[in-house]
Amino acid sequence: METIDVSTRSRTEMIDINKQVAACVRKSGVKNGLCFLYVPHTTAAVTVNEGADPSVKRDVLETLNELIPFEADYSHTEGNSAAHIKSTVVGVSEVVPVRDGAPMLGTWQTIFFCEFDGPRRRKVHVVVSASD
Ligand code: ZN
Repeated sequence: METIDVSTRSRTEMIDINKQVAACVRKSGVKNGLCFLYVPHTTAAVTVNEGADPSVKRDVLETLNELIPFEADYSHTEGNSAAHIKSTVVGVSEVVPVRDGAPMLGTWQTIFFCEFDGPRRRKVHVVVSASD
């Protein structure tokens, strides 16, 4: 297993981790199989979406902020309930196929680490397993 370190700079943010994930896959030596990504945090997430046009991630973050406001009648007293809810909605894991020693992403796809309660130092665990 490998671990990617991510330093976030904003309260909410989507960070392209394609290069770091590809490096983990290369290092594993696996040619064909699965790459499992796991975020060990309760106020962050991982997702795959369009990375070519930066307006897409802006729309995703703005829409999440509208649907799940920072301030509302939450019970959790830490003040970051919105971040916990966003983490659950987006999810803390992703699986990407591996082919020819690289993540098999679509042309417009980017793997994003999602920060919902930053800035913080974060981790993404990466497990690559062979299917043949
Ligand atoms: Zn909390």
